[in-house]
Amino acid sequence: MKSDNKNYYDVIIIGGGAAGLSVGAVTAEAGLKTAIIEREADLGGILLQCIHNGFGLHHFNEELTGPEYAAKVETAAIKAGCQIFTETTVSAIIKQANKNITVDCSSAIHGALELEAGAVVLAMGCRERNRGNIGVPGARPAGIYAAGFAQRLLNIKGCVPGKKAVIIGSGDIGLIMARRLRWSGVEVKAVVEIMPHASGLPRNIAQCLEDFNIPLYLSYMTTKINGKQRVESIEIAPHKNGIADMSKAVKIDCDTLLLSVGLVPENELSVKAGIELNLDTGGPVVDSSLMTNIQGIFACGNVLHVHDLVDFVSEEAIVTGHAVINYLNNKAIANNEIKVIPGTNVKYTVPNSYNRAVNNSFYLRSMMVMDSAELTVYQHEHPVYRKKLKHVKPAEMLQIQLPVSIETSMELDPILPLTISLEAI
Ligand SMILES: Cc1cc2nc3c(=O)[nH]c(=O)nc-3n(C[C@H](O)[C@H](O)[C@H](O)COP(=O)(O)OP(=O)(O)OC[C@H]3O[C@@H](n4cnc5c(N)ncnc54)[C@H](O)[C@@H]3O)c2cc1C
Repeated sequence: MKSDNKNYYDVIIIGGGAAGLSVGAVTAEAGLKTAIIEREADLGGILLQCIHNGFGLHHFNEELTGPEYAAKVETAAIKAGCQIFTETTVSAIIKQANKNITVDCSSAIHGALELEAGAVVLAMGCRERNRGNIGVPGARPAGIYAAGFAQRLLNIKGCVPGKKAVIIGSGDIGLIMARRLRWSGVEVKAVVEIMPHASGLPRNIAQCLEDFNIPLYLSYMTTKINGKQRVESIEIAPHKNGIADMSKAVKIDCDTLLLSVGLVPENELSVKAGIELNLDTGGPVVDSSLMTNIQGIFACGNVLHVHDLVDFVSEEAIVTGHAVINYLNNKAIANNEIKVIPGTNVKYTVPNSYNRAVNNSFYLRSMMVMDSAELTVYQHEHPVYRKKLKHVKPAEMLQIQLPVSIETSMELDPILPLTISLEAI
């Protein structure tokens, strides 16, 4: 509800990366008083350190670098009239029944700030998993970095992290850093991947490893890190079902280890606010309007689920912006929803429910590589929708449109969940 409080905003967006800026452009353009809160001094989020190109092919129909993409979405948000708070960190979100949402912030410029909002959008991005998350044994010397942190050191601070590097994990950040390190004169000895397939996008395997003859060890685990002050070498071995074959162990001399072992949504604020989390994504559970279990709190971008392409982040953010507008105009779109859960070979689906009144867009990830697959939506073992797909990989997020017409093939039970499955054909 509107308020005379000078600190009242119709919409408060937490995070000024691609997601937050793209939502803000939509809500401010619609005349809603919109604030974007960003803890860093500059807007743009993770894009600012991604100086390589490959951004914006779908959304802007051109190939941009990360900072170029950030500049475009920032300009749109500011032009639409968003009020920007930089160097301001949100520390709590509180929603009491029948009241607006309180957003507590700590700002380098304004000090402690208590803002009030009709709706809040979570757009805090994600953070990197680290050594503790993957449990690599061995010493704890200097020279071990999360790959994104090393990217920030190199691209923003201008510091080269070492001379001879090994990258553990073949996620996109690790692949991009392999090439970036080579360009900076660092010898990249290997990329080591525990899975039988690479985790990053195929284009990054080709452009960042194959073009530079950097070896990729698939189905290898890291068995030891050696070194006292600084990393001196690592030992890797092929494995079967998690058991390393030490007879084939290899020792690689290096002074730097980069870990590219996955990202997790930045969810502390969400947990503190009482938002229900989806164990499959690490982000909030959301309905078809991307609203969490707390009325008026929405989520999009990497805080909701980790995206490989920023274009999908902007797309999801635009959907969120329109859902926020509907919510504030009391036009509930998420009514009469049916729960959606991942089935065979599906790691997760977002959103977590199907709206029976509109066409629905779902994002999902496969758990395995399939040359050719059939996606089937079941309700209680009855198929209600089928679609053939080519080249399904965990590294590439899938997007499907579930038409409202799936109701025509069989009347859906409002209580039983829909299950989305992927089967190799
Ligand atoms: C190394 C790397 C390479 C990539 N390469 C490509 C590519 O080639 N092509 C492509 O399309 N995509 C690529 N991506 C993916 C894409 O860049 C991201 O998915 C997208 O930019 C994420 O946007 P976001 O707004 O969700 O998150 P972020 O950009 O992380 O933004 C979140 C923002 O929230 C702020 N924040 C967090 N918590 C708070 C708080 N409590 N208070 C205030 N502010 C807060 C953060 O400071 C940050 O600025 C890449 C990503 C990475 C990491």
